[in-house]
Amino acid sequence: MTESAEKIQRPRTGFDPQQARADFPVLQRRLQGQRLVYLDSAASAQKPHAVIDAELDCYRGYYANVHRGVHTLSQESTSAFEQAREQVRGFLNAADAREIVFVRGTTEAINLVAHSFVAPRLQPGDEIVISHLEHHSNIVPWQLLEQRCGARLRVIPITDAGEIDLDAAAAALGERTRLLSIGHVSNTLGTINPIAELVALARQREIPILVDGAQAAPHLPLDVQALDVDFYAFSGHKVYGPSGIGVLYGRYAHLSEMVPYQGGGDMIRKVSFAGTEFADPPARFEAGTPHIAGAIGLGAALRYLEVQGREQIAAHECALIEEAVQAVAGVPGVRLIGTPKARAGALSFIMEGAHPHDIAMLLDEQAIAVRAGHHCTQPLMERYGVTATVRASLGLYNDSDDVEALVTGLRKVAGIFGLR
Ligand code: PMP
Repeated sequence: MTESAEKIQRPRTGFDPQQARADFPVLQRRLQGQRLVYLDSAASAQKPHAVIDAELDCYRGYYANVHRGVHTLSQESTSAFEQAREQVRGFLNAADAREIVFVRGTTEAINLVAHSFVAPRLQPGDEIVISHLEHHSNIVPWQLLEQRCGARLRVIPITDAGEIDLDAAAAALGERTRLLSIGHVSNTLGTINPIAELVALARQREIPILVDGAQAAPHLPLDVQALDVDFYAFSGHKVYGPSGIGVLYGRYAHLSEMVPYQGGGDMIRKVSFAGTEFADPPARFEAGTPHIAGAIGLGAALRYLEVQGREQIAAHECALIEEAVQAVAGVPGVRLIGTPKARAGALSFIMEGAHPHDIAMLLDEQAIAVRAGHHCTQPLMERYGVTATVRASLGLYNDSDDVEALVTGLRKVAGIFGLR
């Protein structure tokens, strides 16, 4: 894109991705003498100075274990840790900070719900409903419950466009359904699922809802009260925060009835050999020393997103992913996998006669980072009759130059494979 065309595009969203890019030190690197084009944020996003500094400040300035100490450093760490929880509460618009449980990431959050909320309610033959779009971390925990409790997994089919079929969703939810567990945004296709409609279907049948927000949290403004969900999970590392920290939001009424599945320090009120009284949520689900600096870094990441403007980020990324879809579709030999109407952050494609891994390697030689593989969505790959795709995914720091670089790179790859 020419400079003047880019200038025309920017006021459309009121957000300057190039200024944002300057906040991310690793994006200043050059690879093979070229500007790094990072299109793998769906796997993990890069970190701005604000996050790196927050973690460093913690370790350099006031680090100590949280909650149990009376000394100054412990009090300061506890205060920063709990402020981060409050930051997460605001990010999700949860009603109460006690509804925010710090976990390792989305995977752990889903497993926590599986063990502590769903498993105790299951009778053999009960069902958990997911969709065909799900990441393995929203499939395998339920299969473990199939083995353990005799539950059954039901899968809502998708259309060729990669969208959930709402009629089929209505048919899948029934008297035996104990949970609807659904991704907000597909990590492979970028599909934004119709959460409001799905929630309405589940609510009519009094079915609790867990939303896997791993790919929504970086891209969409969120409000768990407006969404009216029971649980919402996301990972720190995909919202420009540290890895090893994530969040489970759960309605307090649910959390307060759930028995923890990990026991240890910090999650008890009283322990004796005769028995143990659990602490109230969220401490009940945070056994052991947490990822203190990670939580503080996550708080900094969410503050950073707030300052950038979440609506503005969403508008910028929405325009950019559309631009990328149009541009990539025009490359010789490319077939897009999934054509959802509402999309955030990611697109997947294959190229005639070229293996996705070879495409990713050839792009890497041009300093373009994309991901090739099944993206932890093997059932989805099977649905489209492929074993792997190339996925390009966006962060707030990407701009039209990145899209242009991707398309130029892909055209070179197409040339190498003799596609015109
Ligand atoms: N769900 C989705 C949709 C994801 O994209 C991912 C990460 N790729 C996960 C769950 C799992 O997240 P994590 O590995 O951070 O636990």
